[in-house]
Amino acid sequence: MKRKTDKQATLAVHAGDRKKLGEYTPTTTPIYATSSFFYERSEDLEKVFNDEKEGNVYSRYGNPTVSAFEDQIATLEGADYGVATASGMSAIHMALMAGLLDRRKSVVAGDVLYGQTTALLQKVFEPFGVETRYADPCNLEAFETTVAKAQPGCIILETITNPLLRVPALDKVAEIAKRHGAQLIVDASFTTPVLSRPLELGVDVVVHSSTKYLSGHGDILGGIILGRKDTLPTINYLRKTLGPNASPFDSYLAMRGAKTLSLRMEKQCRNAAQVARQLAECSAIERVYFPGNPDHPDYETCVRLFPEGLFGAMVSFDLAGGRERVLAFLDALEMVVPATSLGDVQSLALYPAMSSHRDLAPKQRERLGIGDGLVRLSVGIEDPADIIGDIVQAVERSEKAVAQATTDHRSES
Ligand SMILES: *Cc1c(COP(=O)(O)O)cnc(C)c1O
Repeated sequence: MKRKTDKQATLAVHAGDRKKLGEYTPTTTPIYATSSFFYERSEDLEKVFNDEKEGNVYSRYGNPTVSAFEDQIATLEGADYGVATASGMSAIHMALMAGLLDRRKSVVAGDVLYGQTTALLQKVFEPFGVETRYADPCNLEAFETTVAKAQPGCIILETITNPLLRVPALDKVAEIAKRHGAQLIVDASFTTPVLSRPLELGVDVVVHSSTKYLSGHGDILGGIILGRKDTLPTINYLRKTLGPNASPFDSYLAMRGAKTLSLRMEKQCRNAAQVARQLAECSAIERVYFPGNPDHPDYETCVRLFPEGLFGAMVSFDLAGGRERVLAFLDALEMVVPATSLGDVQSLALYPAMSSHRDLAPKQRERLGIGDGLVRLSVGIEDPADIIGDIVQAVERSEKAVAQATTDHRSES
């Protein structure tokens, strides 16, 4: 696209497409299902190998469909590059490895992270000699104390934590990272560039699970690493030597999905605000967690850092009655899908104690504030009245189901 703009809605549908490849140019980038690339003259192939000429040689090094998706997201993120991977986890793995390669082999991590990220640090990096300390990035003073003590090579955290939806002030954490010479890696899967562009706040490397909002339709698994020029050589080298590449098929779907990212994200955030407001009225719901509620501890941070009126599209709530009630609630849903993902066009509900945080001991969950009645919603693009209506009827029916089970149990014994 020749037109200069910084508008995300425009960039999302144009960026990455229509790169000149031959006599004519496809309007949207097709799937280049090929492992290698042929040149009439070996001299040209050599030039591409030497980075003297633009082109592709082998799909582990780069592929036109994958590059188009990478350019699209890098443009939205204000990054110098994007490197797409087969999953969010492979992006996090590679970003951490690249960050630690020539730095101190120690990490400070947010105390609440995606479960597999904690597992990666504890079960993979630790046996390789990388020590990790955990601290709450929403408590800046305590966080800096931990960083000062550990002098880590890397710091890793998430833009919105799961499932309690805390929002650290990334600009302030970036200052802490700079003061102590650590590279700051941020998992921005929950915010996307529509809500936050962490590189502009001083973050060094951004990763996404593009399985979630970026692709948005629950039909692929993917990840992407984004950064400025200084971090590209190591990331590129690791892509070539480790080979965790995104496939052209998945990149095509991810790019197609990301064209509507602004539309979806804005709608989902507005739906989530309505859902959060309505759930607060529901007597069986003891507490609603939503960063857009003025009594949420990070409300001010969101107002300061996110676009006006957008607070993310995730809502969590405590349902009275604990585990039994939550399971009955999930079974009573008629539209919202009880499935283990987030960021899709359909609304999804998840029970952290059973899925994302099942590996934690009940005591540890309790310490983190993840109760037995906690439900996490990923709000979709449906009509908000249908989303709210379904949740309210499932809350009501789950109460009856639990009462019925208790009566049956009594009459049996
Ligand atoms: C889903 C998720 C991941 C892992 O991504 P995959 O694509 O499933 O590998 C990492 N971080 C966050 C915040 C996620 O939600």
